[in-house]
Order: sequence, then C-alpha cells, then structure tokens
Amino acid sequence: MYILVTGGAGYIGSHTVVELINHGYKVVIADNLYNSSFDAVARIEFIVKQHVPFFNVDIRDKEQLSKIFETYEISSVIHFAALKAVGESTKIPLKYYDNNVNGTIKLLEVMDQYNVKNIVFSSSATVYGDVTRFGDNSMIPIPEHCPNDPTNPYGKTKYVIENILHDVYNSDNKWKTAILRYFNPIGAHPSGLIGEDPLGIPQNLLPYLAQVAIGRRDKLSIFGNDYNSHDGTPIRDYIHVIDLAKGHIAALEYLHNLQNDQGLFREWNLGSGKGSTVFDVYHAFCKVVGRELPHEVVGRRDGDVLDLTANPKRANEELKWKTHLTIDDACKDLWKWTVDNPSGYNIDNYSWKALSANDLSNRSHTIKVDDTFKVSIMNLGATIQNVTYKDAPVALGFVTEQEYKNQSFYIGATVGRYANRISEAEKLKLSVNENGNTLHGGKFGFDKKDFLGPVVKRNKKENSTTLEFYLLDPHLENGFPGDLGTLVKYTIASGSIEIEYESELLGKADETFLNLTNHSYWNISTGSSIDGTKIKMATNKALEVDSKSLLPTGKIVDREVTGFAKGSAGIDTCFVLEQQSVQSVDTRSNELQTVLEATHPDSKVKLVVQTTEPSFQLYTADHLDVPGKFGPRGGFCVESGRYIDAINQESWKKSVILPKGETYGSKTKYAFESV
Ligand code: NAD
Ligand code: UDP
Repeated sequence: MYILVTGGAGYIGSHTVVELINHGYKVVIADNLYNSSFDAVARIEFIVKQHVPFFNVDIRDKEQLSKIFETYEISSVIHFAALKAVGESTKIPLKYYDNNVNGTIKLLEVMDQYNVKNIVFSSSATVYGDVTRFGDNSMIPIPEHCPNDPTNPYGKTKYVIENILHDVYNSDNKWKTAILRYFNPIGAHPSGLIGEDPLGIPQNLLPYLAQVAIGRRDKLSIFGNDYNSHDGTPIRDYIHVIDLAKGHIAALEYLHNLQNDQGLFREWNLGSGKGSTVFDVYHAFCKVVGRELPHEVVGRRDGDVLDLTANPKRANEELKWKTHLTIDDACKDLWKWTVDNPSGYNIDNYSWKALSANDLSNRSHTIKVDDTFKVSIMNLGATIQNVTYKDAPVALGFVTEQEYKNQSFYIGATVGRYANRISEAEKLKLSVNENGNTLHGGKFGFDKKDFLGPVVKRNKKENSTTLEFYLLDPHLENGFPGDLGTLVKYTIASGSIEIEYESELLGKADETFLNLTNHSYWNISTGSSIDGTKIKMATNKALEVDSKSLLPTGKIVDREVTGFAKGSAGIDTCFVLEQQSVQSVDTRSNELQTVLEATHPDSKVKLVVQTTEPSFQLYTADHLDVPGKFGPRGGFCVESGRYIDAINQESWKKSVILPKGETYGSKTKYAFESV
C-alpha cells in the first residue's frame, strides 16, 4: 500500500517523503511542479536510495489523478499541494480558491471514488488569524480550540478546506481526517540536498536572510521593532522542517491505528510551543554564518501580529510527537543547503530532458560549460551520451533511449559490476554472457540500469559542474554477492570530464568483487572512422592474453602503439602501469597519471586520458556495428580499471575484492584541447 503525497516535490512535501520512506512507507508523489522542480524528486531518490514514483499532475485534473489510484494501491493521502503566498493571494484570490479549494474537492472526489478515506491535510496557523484580538493573551500560546478568523485569501482557502473536510466526515464518518496546522517551518535536510527554494524574492524571514548571506540580496529588512517583545520584534513559533515532516508520520500512524470503522476529524497544532523573535532568529543564523549580516529595521509589515506561538500539547499527548530540533539546528541545515546550492535547484548551464514519455527515471542531462564544450549524461547506465568539443561530436552516442536499448556495445556506459572479463564465471555463480565468461557485468549490468539522481552542483570558482548518480545494485544481481551502492560522480569543466567511482558493500555479504569503468567510444577525427589518429602511450607493457579466450596468461609483454593507421590491425589490449599498485581497492589516493594522448591531424584535437587506475583496455572497436549509425573503427575506448580477470589471479585479486566497511574507488579524466 502506498501513501500518495500531493505537492511532494515542494519544500515540506519533499522532506516528508524522505521521512516516510525512512519509516518504511511506500510513497507516490503527485505534483504539477508549479512551485517546485523535478530536481527535488531526483534528490529525494538520491537520499533514500530508491526510486519514488512521480506523477506530474495537477490535482484539479481528475482523470490524471485517477490514473495514480489505478496504478498504485493507495491507503492514505498527505495533501500538501497548494499555493501558499499570503501577499500573492490578496492579488489573485480566484487562483488561490481554484487551486487550493477546487483542487482539494477534486482530490476528495477521486479518493472517495477509490474508497481511500484517510487524509492528512496541510493547514496553517494562519487560520487562527490575529489572536491578539482576544486582548487578554488567553489564546497565546494558541490552542486548537481558538476560534478561526483568517485575514487573507490564502488563510481563507485553508479555513474553507478544513470545513469541507469536516462536512465530508459528517456525511460519511468512515473518513479519517487529520488537520495539521503548521506554525513557521524553517531549515532544510541535514544532507544539504533538499531545502526551500523560493521563486523570486523570498517573503519569509529565513529564506530571505539566507539569500543575504550568500550574496543574492543586499540586506534584510526587519519589519518593525516596536512590538511588545523582549527586543521589540514579533514572536513566532519556528519549527524545523524535519520535525514537521515527522509530525505527518505521527498523524498518519494515529489514523492507521484507529479501528477500521472508526472515523475521525481532528486538528493538531504542529509547533514547538516556544516563541522566538525576529532578532533571536537573526542572531542564530548570523552565528552559524560566522558574521553579522546586513540588516535594517523598517516599518511594520501589513498584517503582521505580535505573537503566533503554538500550544502543541494536543499533538504532544495524542500523536506522541514533539519537536526535537532547535532553531540553531535549523539555521545550520539551512546554511548548508544554501552554501551547497546557492541558487537552489536552479543551476546555470544545466538543463535536462526526458528520454521517454511519462517516465522521468531516465533523463538526459546537459552541461554547457562554455561555447567550446558541452556534455550530456543520462541516468541509464550513468552513460556519457554526448560530448561536443568546438561544435564537433567527439564521443559516440544516441538520441533516444530505445537506441541504447537496441545495441550491445556499452556505448558511453558505466560498466559494472565488473568491467572486462571474468573467466569460469559459472564457478563463481555469475551470469555468463560470453564463452563461459562474464563480460562487462553480465546480462543485466550497470549499463542497463537507471541510476538515481543526478545531484547537480556548480562550482563557480572553478567553472565546473558536478553530476552525481547513484545505483543500488541488489545482492546476487547477475550473481554478484552483496548489496552494492555505487556513486558515479562526473566533474565537467572546460574541455574535461573527470569520472570518480565510489562503491560500498551495504549488506548481505562480507565481501564482493568489482571493477568499474566507462565505456565511451571517442572519435576526434573529422570523419566517421578513427583511422589516422596518432597515439602517445605512457606504457608499452601489456597483459598477454590467450588469443582464443582473451584471458590473461599472467605474463606481461611489450606492445607498442603509436596510432590507428588506416588498414592497421585492431587493438584490444590491456596496458598496465606497473608503478600503480595492484593491491589497492581504492586507487583515488594515487595522482591522476597521463596514460594516453590521442591527436588527429585533420581536426587538430587532442584527447588526454588520465587515471589513478593500474591498467586500461585500449580498444579500436573493430567489431562495432550499429546499422546506419556506427561501424567498425567508429571510435576507440580507453577503459581504465583493474587487470582483466583479476579476481581469478592470486597476485592481482586484492585490487578487486571489496570487504564490508571498506570503499572501492577510482578516478579517470578525459580532457580535450586544440593543438
Ligand atoms: P511548496 O510550494 O514548496 O509546495 C507545494 C507543492 O504543491 C509545490 O511543489 C507545488 O508545485 C505543488 N502544487 C501546487 N498546486 C498544485 C496543484 N494544483 N496540483 C499539483 N501540485 C500542486 O510549499 P510548502 O511550503 O512545501 O507548503 C506545503 C503545504 O504546507 C501547503 O499546503 C502550504 O499551504 C502549507 N503550509 C506551508 C507553510 C510554510 O510556511 N511553508 C506554513 C503553513 C502551511
Ligand atoms: N520578517 C522580517 N523581514 C522579512 C521577512 C519576515 O522582519 O524579510 C519578520 C515578519 O515580520 C515576521 C517574522 O519575520 O515577524 C516571520 O515572518 P514570515 O513571513 O517568515 O512568516 P509569517 O509568520 O509571517 O508566516
């Protein structure tokens, strides 16, 4: 059974989805991305290390909404989807009523149709209105029985929806309805991967202050210091978004624990019960940033009131929920989110497009570093799909997902769990896909998997962008032991792509074995063949292989390569860098060493390959055959990695065996320049 989370790509929704999954729930997200980005969903998946079904639907569209209920068995709905800007709601009230109220009606109709009658609703402390109207502080801190009197259209939509939900419950008391009235959510996920990403000028205190701190705004305006508080600024009940997210799980569990036929309509405040002034929050954030941030006290903001502090007793007692995190925690997490993502989810020079209709699991991600260099990488196989240097493609790749699925040449793909060959694969109980061997990971290797992510970040100083992809490959996939988590990190800078692999054994075995590489086919000529490419090698030492089985004999022999002259014999040879240890499972502490330079006299383009790895397979693709696209010698591969079949060679074995608790790693860099 799934929990449907409407608005799950948004600020509070995304954090709640993470908490739900961490608590063992299965989740489907519905969001029209009006105020959010699919990158948030990709990052949710990255955090929870699993795919989360996502539907790009407007909740007002009953037909689309019904499809979700048709596809997944939904037990309950957590309903975040709404427009939420108080100021904006006074300008376009009809849009607010249509989106929030009409949207909820449509959602409830579909829920009713599919007999799903559990709902947790995102309401707001704004429904209470100005509680200082009672004059005698009798309603501060605010209890749930405080009369409602919202003062703006946004708050009124929440008030109306609460009433609709109440009426629905009155008409059919099988409905189990939890109304959660949030106070002031702040902070971000401690990973720094998800957080609040306001469109335009932030209206809320901390998002604004964070943008001042990161240099996007000049100074914070403090709206009035003539209130009756310890420092003259208004008092609010700030709550860490993680605590808030957990409140939803507590409410959901409360509903699930009711007797089957016992319905409910009940409101709970989600707040800490502790009020803090604007200056309290300002100082807490400045402390985390490490400096005083520019600010100015200006006049009061229309509609602001002195004190909005929750009385959270009901939630504490009934839901067994209370806040655990402090304003300092929230400031710390917000600052990490801000530093790691100075422009939120929006990254300069980065764009993505879907590769198949209705499924965003495999997208093509493009980084345009500058006018000379552009790289696209897709989720399927964390594959390098396209590299353009000075307007010319320098790597082979396809446009559509189907083209990738129709070929078997690992074009641009991450090869895993085990690049190259493993002999006597049956003995190791591995999937056999070549003459008794396991080649490039077996029948269903990394090249055929959608990696999660990417997490895209830009490093302005270095003019580089990183894309991190993650794959959790389950125990015994293709026969390999243990759950294996693999991070593939691309750093794209001007003219270069650096690839870093990092894997960890996550369980179900004490050790496993692996060997990761990238299988790009490079072509720096001006035509469709690599003929004429000149090669400068850092080594002429190669593994001798049996000519039939292509497996190493254990001997190292001399092999000279100076280029791919027209008509010359093909090359498919593993060269070794004897100075690099073959004992280390993580080679990342090695310097990146130049292993090969390729130039072509026609294009005058040079490709320099560097790696921390002890060997690389040089392959001239003499059997490449993708009709109408690429033929023999259409590209060459430089597959850095560990020695062929190292797992079956006593003296090389250590480099491919990953015990639990240790980390596998390597780095390889491909750089282009003009000569
Ligand atoms: P958010 O804008 O980040 O998230 C709302 C999400 O809903 C967005 O991803 C948006 O694209 C989506 N959405 C909006 N209309 C939709 C529609 N018609 N169909 C499908 N998706 C739609 O906002 P948030 O801060 O995460 O707020 C979530 C909920 O919590 C909202 O209901 C909001 O009113 C409520 N709330 C927020 C606060 C706050 O301070 N952030 C306080 C109290 C209550
Ligand atoms: N605030 C401020 N400057 C800003 C934004 C907010 O001084 O740029 C104050 C505002 O007056 C209120 C508090 O910060 O007292 C919280 O405001 P926010 O808009 O974040 O939340 P609200 O409580 O209004 O929903």
